[in-house]
Amino acid sequence: MTKYIFVTGGVLSSLGKGITAASVGALLNHSGRHIGMLKIDPYINVDPGTMSPLEHGEVFVTKDGAETDLDIGNYERFLDTSYLKTSNFTTGQVYSSVIERERAGGYLGQTIQVIPHIVGEIVDRIKKAGKGHDILIVELGGTVGDIEGQPFLEAVRQMKHDDEVAGTFFIHVTLIPYIKAAGEHKSKPTQHSVQELRRIGITPQMIIARSEGSLPKTFKKKLALSCDVTQDSVIEALDAPTIYAVPMSFLQQNILAPIAKELELGEIAPDMQEWDSLVKKIVAPTKLVTIGFVGKYLQLKESYKSLIEALIHSGAHLDTKVNICWVDSEDIETRGAESLLNDCDAVLVAGGFGSRGVEGKIQAIEYARVNKVPYLGICLGMQLTLVEYARNVLGHEDANSIEFDTETTHPMVYLIDNFINQSGNSELRTHQSPMGGTLRLGEYPCETKEGSHLREAYDGVEVIHERHRHRYEANPTYRAELEQAGMVVTGESHGLIEAVEVIDHPWFLGVQFHPEFTSRLQTPNPAILSFVKASLAHAENS
Ligand code: GLN
Repeated sequence: MTKYIFVTGGVLSSLGKGITAASVGALLNHSGRHIGMLKIDPYINVDPGTMSPLEHGEVFVTKDGAETDLDIGNYERFLDTSYLKTSNFTTGQVYSSVIERERAGGYLGQTIQVIPHIVGEIVDRIKKAGKGHDILIVELGGTVGDIEGQPFLEAVRQMKHDDEVAGTFFIHVTLIPYIKAAGEHKSKPTQHSVQELRRIGITPQMIIARSEGSLPKTFKKKLALSCDVTQDSVIEALDAPTIYAVPMSFLQQNILAPIAKELELGEIAPDMQEWDSLVKKIVAPTKLVTIGFVGKYLQLKESYKSLIEALIHSGAHLDTKVNICWVDSEDIETRGAESLLNDCDAVLVAGGFGSRGVEGKIQAIEYARVNKVPYLGICLGMQLTLVEYARNVLGHEDANSIEFDTETTHPMVYLIDNFINQSGNSELRTHQSPMGGTLRLGEYPCETKEGSHLREAYDGVEVIHERHRHRYEANPTYRAELEQAGMVVTGESHGLIEAVEVIDHPWFLGVQFHPEFTSRLQTPNPAILSFVKASLAHAENS
């Protein structure tokens, strides 16, 4: 039977509940326990797939093709584990399945209500996510007191008494403000949010106190008394130099002791040696490299969360600080690529949707190709390498992706309307297809070409597996023409073009997949690691 740790948030949002949950997970995982992770999002969207990255940050993609909250990415990066669809659900999903069952006559004769039906569905989903794990860590999105969050709190309260539940532990993450004029930390907001939880019937057993500065011992004692937790269950969470330092800071405060006691976990001693040495390399690296990151969602850097983290992972393994030089692709259109990318050791063009900034990205690619600067293009960043090559090398002036120009006479990137999806079924995709759930999503195999940078990056592995999130594909009609002119296909998946490289270039790779989704602190993604290595080599030679 599974034990459950519930992580709730109080006072305000953005306190780092996800990092808290992931950090506790990492410590337990490194103690040899089998840990599951679940994020519950109280919003009504069925999944975040159709939300703007500027609204919600990055949409993370799981191995089995679910579009999820970006916290699932944190879980995978911290626990070095691939989680599945079951690791994230929303209010929208809960209501959809209850309504579907009602229409199918599944509740014949009953009035469908929040309690017991919606709450029951939530409990079922949590238990399903917990199956097969020693402990499931459940992060409840939002802040205690939100209207949308009520059914979820009611559900987890009920689980305390569930026969199929081997134990529960409640962690509450709150903010401790420091009032300068009074020279004091304040516990009142935390007390209020704990009271709000108690009103529902949940008494948190641990308080994670987010604070800018260290909390005096007397204050922690007061907090423990007023929130009804033991003193060793008040854990300080100060602003950290890197998110990966958080598990180490929790460990120093002996966070596992009260958890192990309550959940009867026995002897618990996480082996965090490798983790710690990687954190030290992130905090004080000896080398430096600057990568020009060309994108269009720069107002909210969370839009590129996994990619930013992947660069940090590779940097940690290469004892290098990867300095990101943010370049807005629309600025390139007005100021030119040279002036904005001149100081960079490498160029990275990230994925994206829609035509804004596309021409700027094409200029960035041309700059990297012509000046022999290491280049990595991801998803849209690969598709546009074909467009750039077609326009500037093959001389097809109006070459484009049909995503941006449906009239182009040289559709380098097009829509295959019929494709075999992950489950082996044929799926139809047209311009009229609804936006939700019509992308090529999740993990697909990719055959690498012998002698390519791609094969070399993956240590000679012939078939690699990476994740996808896109609607359009590289057009194979142009393959021979491109290859004759020096742009070679070096990755293929069931006949689809997965990767291209420019032969006459030190390191130029475009990949249709998103390598960043499989990068973890302890196992950085090989393509990104190889790219950072090439960038370092370029920096040293120039
Ligand atoms: N817009 C492109 C497509 O849908 C690329 C998507 C992406 O970069 N994730 O195919």
